[in-house]
Amino acid sequence: MTDLPSQWTHEPRKILKFHPGSKVADVDPNSTPGYTGDKDGSEEVQAERNERFAGLQEMLYANGKSGDNRSLLLVLQGMDTAGKGGIVKHVVGAGDPMGIRYTGFGVPTEEERAHHYLWRIRKALPPGGHVGVFDRSHYEDVLVVRVHELVPQDVWEPRYDEINAFEKELADSGTTIVKCAMFVSLDEQKRRLAERLDRSDKYWKFNPADIDERLRWPDYQEAYQAVLDRTSTDHAPWFVIPCDKKWYARLAINELLIEALKGMGLSWPPAGFDVEEQKKRLAQA
Ligand code: AMP
Ligand code: MG
Repeated sequence: MTDLPSQWTHEPRKILKFHPGSKVADVDPNSTPGYTGDKDGSEEVQAERNERFAGLQEMLYANGKSGDNRSLLLVLQGMDTAGKGGIVKHVVGAGDPMGIRYTGFGVPTEEERAHHYLWRIRKALPPGGHVGVFDRSHYEDVLVVRVHELVPQDVWEPRYDEINAFEKELADSGTTIVKCAMFVSLDEQKRRLAERLDRSDKYWKFNPADIDERLRWPDYQEAYQAVLDRTSTDHAPWFVIPCDKKWYARLAINELLIEALKGMGLSWPPAGFDVEEQKKRLAQA
């Protein structure tokens, strides 16, 4: 049924799936749900699963080349230092860049602000055959925007339903959506931010505003709770990822991607030509 590595006692897609009634406050970011292994040995598992993902991703791309319109969209949401970039680099990065569409969403530009908040999101959607990765996403428009009251409540409030409808439209048009809410503890975040301030090769990752955001954690917790409560749907479920252990978060999200790709029931597209005939031609060429 599954080729899940033996260290997993539960399928990540089941154990990490957000269930109605679950509380963000109860998430233990240092836990490793469903996984019995530890850091030692995780590299080996990761390497093998990177390859599995890469194989499936190539198959998706091959199908896209043959006209299959389906795609996969990974949405990464989390506070600073949660490890979004690490997922991009160490998990999605195992795939072939040719078939991957990465987009990081920052503070909207003037042009973006002149449009509906989903405008820039739609432009970044993965074409058929591609894996799209959103490093932050349309959810910022109900997270940072809500916490900082960048627009009034009567503007952000209807967005939850609007996002559900938008994602339904995506799912119906062949995009499998995997949404990961990445949770790092305040202590671990402090350690990671301190490291960014201690190393000149990490300054580029630091933003003084990260400290302000950190101080708003209770407000963010409330905003994340609302996101999970109101936008966990059958067509686009949320997965809750404990991220204090980077190796665990990477293994977990890697498995979610593998499962999503397997769920598409892909196979290698048949040749659009007569193989024997082409072999003969090549022999004589
Ligand atoms: P980073 O992911 O570290 O590059 O930071 C990007 C920043 O852009 C974060 O502080 C986000 O909260 C912010 N951001 C992303 N989307 C929006 C948005 N729609 N409105 C306001 N700020 C945003
Ligand atoms: Mg940042």
